[in-house]
Amino acid sequence: MKNVTVIGSGTMGNGIAHVFAQNGFHVTLVDISAPALEKALATISKNLDRQVAKGTLTEQDKLDTLGRITTQTDLKTGVSAAELVVEAATENVDLKLRIFADMDAHAPENAILATNTSSISITRIAAATKRPGQVIGMHFMNPVPVMKLVEVIRGYATSDEVCSTIMRVSGELGKEPVEVNDYPGFVANRILMPMINEAIYTLYEGVSGVAEIDTVMKLGMAHPMGPLQLADFIGLDVCLSILRVMHDGFGNPKYAPCPLLVNMVTAGKLGAKSGEGFYRYTPGSKEITVAYKR
Ligand code: NAD
Repeated sequence: MKNVTVIGSGTMGNGIAHVFAQNGFHVTLVDISAPALEKALATISKNLDRQVAKGTLTEQDKLDTLGRITTQTDLKTGVSAAELVVEAATENVDLKLRIFADMDAHAPENAILATNTSSISITRIAAATKRPGQVIGMHFMNPVPVMKLVEVIRGYATSDEVCSTIMRVSGELGKEPVEVNDYPGFVANRILMPMINEAIYTLYEGVSGVAEIDTVMKLGMAHPMGPLQLADFIGLDVCLSILRVMHDGFGNPKYAPCPLLVNMVTAGKLGAKSGEGFYRYTPGSKEITVAYKR
């Protein structure tokens, strides 16, 4: 396998394109937005510079990596020679179903269609195509060039052959793939999101404050980042939407999102990306201060 197309060039898409290109794959990066593609190439270049500065990559490796990435705004052209497509467009069910129907119509018959979705059912996405056996979840973690894990998610119809190809390809990217089945939240978010939700309930019920809750989990459990700061980093809207998928999917009240989380998202406090969540963030500075006051 040599030709990979990545759909969506945002936070995840540019990282996915980066790791494929760095490991010798030819990457076509597709986005409906030309400015997003320009920004993605600039981000990849900056991240490669960081690797060169650290001595993990040479200047020539950087140039070769960038030379293996081409960009495209037309999906039909972008997938026409793909052996593998990894979709990393905006997390929206209707959008993903449409993209998969389009990819199915225009990608070569034997191409594998993977999605980086955090929460949408792989089985449901696969049903939008005529090749459900070739549809699979390839869930990279943020930031993609740094994080080792790929959750490889088998939909109901995913074939053994496709699953083993994706496990092998993930290994070729220097990642550690873990195979999981397609149930709401998969494994990573099924365990992470209830922990984050419980931390928010702990705050909401006044058991302790933001910094205190995070300190307990950092110093007591050796977590590199407390759950409230992690929620800010992931995006509070993203956390809410994943919890809702699990709540709907299992019909179990234990996944009901904390009312404080719902209120904060409604108020536009989305975490680091909006400048404020449980903490306040200043662009260009690593300093954070507690923003949430009861
Ligand atoms: P993002 O908003 O940063 O980027 C999404 C990109 O998709 C944008 O550049 C947008 O222009 C593009 N796009 C929208 N519609 C498109 C279309 N029809 N064709 C091509 N491109 C289109 O989002 P993100 O955070 O990179 O998330 C992408 C996917 O990765 C989502 O499914 C998300 O759940 C998943 N994910 C995100 C994270 C994370 O930490 N951000 C982690 C794991 C998985």
